[in-house]
This record gives sequence, C-alpha cells and structure tokens, in this order.
Amino acid sequence: MTAATGRTRASGIADALVATREAIAAACRSTGRRPDDVRLVAASKTVPVEVLEQALDAGQSVFGENRVQEAAAKWPALRERRPDLELHLIGPLQSNKARDAVRLFDVVQSVDRLSLCTALAREIDRQQRSPRLLLQVNIGEEPQKSGVAPDDLPELVGACTRLGLDVTGLMCIPPAGRSPVAYFERLVALADAHDLRERSMGMSGDYADAVRHGATMVRVGSSLFGSRPPLRTEGAG
Ligand SMILES: *Cc1c(COP(=O)(O)O)cnc(C)c1O
Repeated sequence: MTAATGRTRASGIADALVATREAIAAACRSTGRRPDDVRLVAASKTVPVEVLEQALDAGQSVFGENRVQEAAAKWPALRERRPDLELHLIGPLQSNKARDAVRLFDVVQSVDRLSLCTALAREIDRQQRSPRLLLQVNIGEEPQKSGVAPDDLPELVGACTRLGLDVTGLMCIPPAGRSPVAYFERLVALADAHDLRERSMGMSGDYADAVRHGATMVRVGSSLFGSRPPLRTEGAG
C-alpha cells in the first residue's frame, strides 16, 4: 500500500466513524434519548491491524471480534499501546475456549448456554478477571442460529445468577431479509423483564432503527471498514 492510499483509507475510516456517530446521535435525538447512552462497537472481524490502528487514531476504542484466535493474534499488542481499549467477543464461543475468552475480552456478548456459563464461571474464578457478559438470544427462533431460545432465557438468567456471573444485558441478530423492528422490540421487552440494562442490537443495515427502539450497543462492521471477504462460517470460535 502506498502512503497516498494509506492516507485515503485512514480518512475514509475517520469519516465513516463520524458519519456513524452522527447517525446514532440523530436516532437518539428523534426518540428523546441521549447519544451517550449508545456505544458504538466497531465489528472488526477480518480487519487487519494497520486498519485497526487507523480506527484507534480516529478515536474509536470499542471493538468486537468474532473469533478468539483472531482476537488473540490482533489485539494484545494494540492493547499495550491503548489501555483504554475495550474488546468485545460477538461471535459464538466454544466452552473449551473460555479460558482465552476470559483472558482477552472485556465483554462477551455471545453467552447462550449453561455449559458455557459453567466454563466461564470457572475461568473467571481462576483468573480473577470478570468480563461483563451478555446473553445472546435467538430472537427469530431460527434453527441454524446460535443464541438461547426466548422461552429458555429465564432459566439461563437464573443459572447465571446462581453461578455469580455478571450478566449485564442481552444481544441478538434478527433474521435476515425481514424488518428487524419487531425483533428489536422483543429483545427490549426480554431485557426489561429481567432488569438487564444492555441491549446489543443493530448492525450496518439497521443500527439507526435499533437505536430508535432502545439499543444501548450497536455492532457496526462493513459501513466502517468496507465489505468483508465471505467467511466459510460466520464466526465460529
Ligand atoms: C459481523 C458482525 C456484525 C457487523 O455486521 P455489519 O453488517 O458488517 O455491520 C455485527 N454483529 C455480529 C455478531 C457480527 O458477526
């Protein structure tokens, strides 16, 4: 990459961050919310370190990764330079990677089953490090998607309480190709019912809608970083 294209891309990311923050603020204003109540999580799967540095330089400090191994390769060095960094796991987590997840992440958004909760509780105790946890809800009840079924959420919340886990909210990925609004409303109702303050919902195509319907975190990737090469599986690991 030449210096010129490097500069162009850096200003492109800075501009995209400004535009996204403005769109979030506008969605907040239109519904009487405070822009400070919504966190922009930059979804950075497949984004290389030099581009992440540009995003950090442009003032973004909250990032979401889908894979434990990819995060382990990219983030420890960046974190040394930027202690204010906040790293979220937004992709599915296997229980046998709970140790690495507890070590690497500040927030795990994809907690969705008892066996994983048990593994996380053990590692949190062992490492004396407590990432905040969100429970991922399979809000459209799609067989191929991860996430706890809405009907099984009360039981999982109860199990987390018994394990002493710090569950702060819910996350969802609504079904593709349909209006997400009813799913956003359903997630908010579930979060309210369990007194959970964080609602992680909304991606590049629908984050303004998500904010208007109560998101406290939006996970935005392609509209910040450009389109990604297709993944074989969306984020296992
Ligand atoms: C990739 C990803 C996003 C961001 O998606 P975009 O459409 O690129 O904004 C958000 N959430 C999860 C769980 C993802 O895997």
